[in-house]
Amino acid sequence: MPYSEENGSDKSRRTFLKEISAFQLMAATLGRNLANSSFATPAVSSLAQSADKTVTTSNKKKFVAIQIGARSFVDEGIDKCLDTLQERAAVNALMPAVFTYGRGLAGRQVPGQPLPDHGVQEYDEIHGGSYTRLHPEFYEKSVVKDFRAPELGGFDVLADVIPKARTRGMQVYCLFEEAYNPRLIPNFEKIAEVDVYGRIGGSTCHNNPEARLFLTSMVKDWLTNNDLDGMMWESERQGPLNNTLEAHIGRIGGSRSINCFCMHCVRKAKESGINAERAREGYMALDRWVGQKLSGARPNDGTFVSLWRLLLDYPEILAWESLWFHSQEAVYGLLYGTAKEANPKAQVGWHIMHLVTMSPLYRAEQDYGRLAHFSDFIKPSTYNNCGGPRFAQYIRNVQSTIFRDCTPEEVLELHYKFFGYENESSLEQLPRAGFSDDYVARETRRAIAQVQGSVAIYPGIDVDIPTGLNEKRTQPQDVKAAVLAAFRAGAPGVVLSRKYAEMKLTNLAGAREALREIGA
Ligand SMILES: [Zn+2]
Repeated sequence: MPYSEENGSDKSRRTFLKEISAFQLMAATLGRNLANSSFATPAVSSLAQSADKTVTTSNKKKFVAIQIGARSFVDEGIDKCLDTLQERAAVNALMPAVFTYGRGLAGRQVPGQPLPDHGVQEYDEIHGGSYTRLHPEFYEKSVVKDFRAPELGGFDVLADVIPKARTRGMQVYCLFEEAYNPRLIPNFEKIAEVDVYGRIGGSTCHNNPEARLFLTSMVKDWLTNNDLDGMMWESERQGPLNNTLEAHIGRIGGSRSINCFCMHCVRKAKESGINAERAREGYMALDRWVGQKLSGARPNDGTFVSLWRLLLDYPEILAWESLWFHSQEAVYGLLYGTAKEANPKAQVGWHIMHLVTMSPLYRAEQDYGRLAHFSDFIKPSTYNNCGGPRFAQYIRNVQSTIFRDCTPEEVLELHYKFFGYENESSLEQLPRAGFSDDYVARETRRAIAQVQGSVAIYPGIDVDIPTGLNEKRTQPQDVKAAVLAAFRAGAPGVVLSRKYAEMKLTNLAGAREALREIGA
């Protein structure tokens, strides 16, 4: 579709540049108190303030955290679980999942995957919700009030576990993620994202005030009513541009997630000088473009040129993507401020999804240096084992859209060059080989350099994250090598991921062996 006269004029170019600088300004001011603006972000720390935070990189007192679901404590007993974690893996910090509707953090082993060498030897079903008691006074104004997970009775993953962890000197950080089940959450539509075609989505909108209030209500509740050391949030999603281009690790199929175009986002865009109708048109055009590429049509000028032309026709596509990830950052800032208000000593951090080590598009958006303004720690997901099959899938996805002019092998080589990955496997071998421990080291060093040491980097260590049965499976030496790589690259700690219920103890033991090797 040709660019309209008005939008093609110098005036619109100036408008576009203004939009871009508005975002840069927003990024620069995210760390300040903007309580009266539409980008409301409570007072948060700044890099300058945090410069005096010394992030230890010595071999002593390494932070060894583990993500764990309430189900494991119920199945195995709290004391036995804690004994196992301390003795087998030298864990000194718990990250119990307090809120999720997803299997990545809650429940036992994923059905179809071999059951590990501990816990109840049966698969379960999860409902999801809050695995800690809800204090109703914290949800009086929230449209979502009733979301206690029913499957574990009255078990409270904070109130029941924290005292026992304390007596052992273990820290506790509550962990929650954006994994919702709209069917099970009354009023979900009031906090939901809305796609470019007007359909309600499966996640929330970052700019919806009710969605923000729901999140801050939970954070206040947890940090006010429990003796927590901190919290970590997983916002495992990306903006509409990357999703439309199928730049992800899932299999391609079904409709593309092109969010958010709800009234709150449209209003925020308007305030930033972005033409929402042009953005909507642009995303529909991009969606059609991807559909045509997937059906095999090769444009006369080649795939990449035709994509670039579309982006030039609709600069609002990029502006909307920028709006999306800056809105995600604004929520980070909001939660950071909320947590600090409830408990100034709480350490607040973010899990950054695995794609950050695979997609240059997503990586460009996730600037750790910028995130450091409202973080105490960052956990980049450096999952090397499942990274093999996941990266191979990512490469095939983007080859089928953005990089159709190249072969999948060439696209892989290009990405290795983008990221500086050396001596990793060929596309054919990658799903069975996984990434090396050098990948963990590189990503750790990169993250530390980006935050200039101002906040702690705790790389996520892959312990039995599910893969296909004929793909790379975690081995004990893999865990040891990955933990060693993270520590030797300067990380003051690690987060054993994704959840204890899917980890083999024989693999988990690699963490202790790594600590022993560095004398910590
Ligand atoms: Zn929205």
